[in-house]
Amino acid sequence: MLYDKFQRKHDYLRVSLTDSCNFRCLYCMPNEDITFMPQRHLMQREEIFEIAKTFSSLGVTKIRLTGGEPLVRKDAQNIIKDLSGLPVELTLTTNGFLVHQFIQTFKDSGIKSLNVSLDTMCPKKFHELTKRNSFNQVWENILLLIKHKFSVKLNVVVMKGVNQDEVVNFVQLTQKLPLHVRFIEFMPFDKNQWNSLKVVPFDVMLQQISSQFDVVKLKDKKHDTAKKFKVIGFEGTFAFITTMSQPFCSDCNRMRLTADGKMKNCLFGKDELDLLTTLRSSAPIEPIIRKALFLKHQALGGQMQGDFTKLNPELIDNRSMIKIGG
Ligand code: SAM
Ligand code: SF4
Repeated sequence: MLYDKFQRKHDYLRVSLTDSCNFRCLYCMPNEDITFMPQRHLMQREEIFEIAKTFSSLGVTKIRLTGGEPLVRKDAQNIIKDLSGLPVELTLTTNGFLVHQFIQTFKDSGIKSLNVSLDTMCPKKFHELTKRNSFNQVWENILLLIKHKFSVKLNVVVMKGVNQDEVVNFVQLTQKLPLHVRFIEFMPFDKNQWNSLKVVPFDVMLQQISSQFDVVKLKDKKHDTAKKFKVIGFEGTFAFITTMSQPFCSDCNRMRLTADGKMKNCLFGKDELDLLTTLRSSAPIEPIIRKALFLKHQALGGQMQGDFTKLNPELIDNRSMIKIGG
């Protein structure tokens, strides 16, 4: 079992398969020419399996594949199939664009639930946010997943002046569709033009929704990062990920592996321990994993405290989201 020094048990690993992506979301990528990691710096298929197997032997029961966009990796299907052989709940987070090519792989690999990111139902705004004209394909793929009985969580990053006006529309979607919409508070990463005025806190969104619908609170599971709700009589649910206004670190069970094989003990942490180089030198990685966990801070990587409206993003030392793996 893996515990940090605050006695938090860690049994959930998020693995980034790549730092590259077919979209260019403005809140995720630095606003500059981006260079992706050379192939040889990335964990190779066998290395991903080896590292994941070690985590599983240490008590990890859930693995989420992410990125960048995990499905752009040429060997994504093989990686997914390899990992499905481990005794873990396997899942992934995707922008949805390539999902139609993977339906059978997901089924064969026992994947039951996926997170798909979609921040707007307006094709023009979709282009402004992602620099791609792909709204229709993403939406069709979300419907395809539902048709094939996958549980779909829809990740919506809410930003003031950008898509706050769509919060109610997203909840309306849950009337007929068994979708689980999750509104994510906009978070600061390297050069992503974050400022606190762009964050829409969850209580503001909840008020917007409650003024239109009869809302009930649902019970949250242990380790849930989302506060779940439902409109009475609707098929789906909605939830808030309140990283900025009400962080949920006290119960954290997550670890992250970047595409270049560095272990991060927190999304906002600057500590990174190199599992891949250790593995390539044929040394055991377990001591490095335990050391990385020992370094974990009590909250928000030790870099943010208190009121997010007073936060200076210039003082946060971290990679961009695309290079961490969300
Ligand atoms: N490409 C995949 C996708 O878009 O779902 C997986 C990687 S992406 C980095 C993972 C999640 O992080 C997405 O749901 C995305 O919306 C979210 N994300 C990225 N940057 C964010 C930010 N600055 N604040 C909040 N969420 C963010
Ligand atoms: Fe790509 Fe996902 Fe980041 Fe958008 S949020 S740029 S789809 S990795």
